[in-house]
Amino acid sequence: MKNSFYLFILVLLISCSEEVEIETSQSSTPDELIEHSSEFKKEVIEVADGIHMAIGYALANAMMVEGEDSNIIIDTTGTIETAREVKDIFHSINPNPISAIIYTHNHGDHVYGASVFAEDSNPDIYAHSSTSKYISRVVGILRPIISSRSSKMFGNVLPKEDVENNGIGPFLEIGRDERTPGLLYPTKVFDDELEFEISGIKVVLYHAPGETNDQLFVWLPDKKALFPGDNFYKTFPNLYTIRGTPYRDLAGWVNSLDMMRYLEPEYLIPSHTRPISGKEEISKLLTTYRDGIQFIHDQTIRLMNQGLGPDEIAERIYLPKHLGDSPFLKEFYGSPEWSARNVFSGYLGWFDGNPSTLKPVPKYKEAKNIVDLAGGWENLFKLAEDSFKKEEYQWALQLTDYLLLNKPDNDDALLLRISCLEALGENESNPNSRYYYLSSATLLDKSYKPNDILAPTLEVIKKYPIEAMMETLKVNVIPEKSIDKNIQLLFNFTDSGKKFSLFLRKGVLEIQSFEVPGSSVQVMAKEEDMKAVLTGLKSLPISLVTGSIKVNGSKADLLSFFSSVRS
Ligand SMILES: [Zn+2]
Repeated sequence: MKNSFYLFILVLLISCSEEVEIETSQSSTPDELIEHSSEFKKEVIEVADGIHMAIGYALANAMMVEGEDSNIIIDTTGTIETAREVKDIFHSINPNPISAIIYTHNHGDHVYGASVFAEDSNPDIYAHSSTSKYISRVVGILRPIISSRSSKMFGNVLPKEDVENNGIGPFLEIGRDERTPGLLYPTKVFDDELEFEISGIKVVLYHAPGETNDQLFVWLPDKKALFPGDNFYKTFPNLYTIRGTPYRDLAGWVNSLDMMRYLEPEYLIPSHTRPISGKEEISKLLTTYRDGIQFIHDQTIRLMNQGLGPDEIAERIYLPKHLGDSPFLKEFYGSPEWSARNVFSGYLGWFDGNPSTLKPVPKYKEAKNIVDLAGGWENLFKLAEDSFKKEEYQWALQLTDYLLLNKPDNDDALLLRISCLEALGENESNPNSRYYYLSSATLLDKSYKPNDILAPTLEVIKKYPIEAMMETLKVNVIPEKSIDKNIQLLFNFTDSGKKFSLFLRKGVLEIQSFEVPGSSVQVMAKEEDMKAVLTGLKSLPISLVTGSIKVNGSKADLLSFFSSVRS
């Protein structure tokens, strides 16, 4: 006990005497973002014998590994049109059939080109066992909000020439130039590790949570080639994405990078940015990358334990110079500040610990009080305008929140807000925030019609599981239209034989995947026809008239049900 006490004092003395001022790295400039575009020169690179990377065609790369008499595709790009362009080039290199597709994870820029690569040879599609669930979540219950926030973050509401690059790729092709998704779900899944051989190629898939929970990396032991998916690329990693995401577990991410390091790859072939060769170089870069992530994770927790809230931590967090100056940790996609907030909410949830934020006054009330404090709306507007003139764009933007909460349609306040967003965007080198500001400014223009980049197509809904569609129904119930309703229906799908019992009970929709006696209305349809109605691609009345949807029992109950659920 006594010894450990002295040891403690000694450590304390040493640590006090050794404290040094830490140098941090310079933040990037918009000019450097423009230079970063050279990362995405459009070409197909032969990384190693029989391994090809298509880069610059889409947000994400697609890779082909040549086997003895068939080939493997790793990631498929994000649309049918892009995939066709890449597939044609791969075909000219090696015309053998494609016998396997591997998804590194569920994100659309990696999976929505799959139908093109699969069309001739119907290959197995390998992925982690949770990938299908995450695909369905984005295509289903979260589609409206993820679509809207993604289109702002990637700048898809802006003309293409206004998007310098997206940090991890030249541009997001999904929702651009009328390109369309070609979704296929995985057919071969695994939990931790999967080893197989195709056409003489030995493949090991490792589950590697990081940028997503379903992330995997591909290891070709004979070729010493490693495909890290989105757990490694040439920019600070997106430890949180502002389009919205489940918690990205930084400790798991570091662990996944360590698994890669100790395999000692000689080729590192990421799904974004260019390939890297050389065991030493790869080891050095993976170490820098994992240290960058661990530094942010550990230091956020240290500050959390001192009682600091997310705002204070976001302000204090930094990368030391030896990490932040690495070209692989420049802030061209993720951001240490957002990452720290992600760590805070991942471990502690939304509450920052300050009692005043437990039950804050509603925003509209806060806005009214601020206007009163300023001595009236006109005075507050003047303060906001002065802040803008002094180039305090962020503060001016925050003041426009209050101004518009009081007068939502005021043209002067709207114009000032647009100017703030444009100024912030133009000075910003992180593409995600840059395009989020610039797109938000564009969307304030009343003549602009937003585009829905994940709008459902008949092609996509054909593949979309009916079970996932049922989940989407639940989150579209409108309480105001159903609080006094109590309706039981049966959906009977004539092609698959699946049956679902639905109970709309005072604002809540319970769905069971079996028949419960007592329904007042039975609906018979093919899955595809019902999916088209539920996504708004076809109308219910017309489907009833044409007979693609047949009804037994109370039609009034069916119409009452549909009027309670936004389609
Ligand atoms: Zn990606």
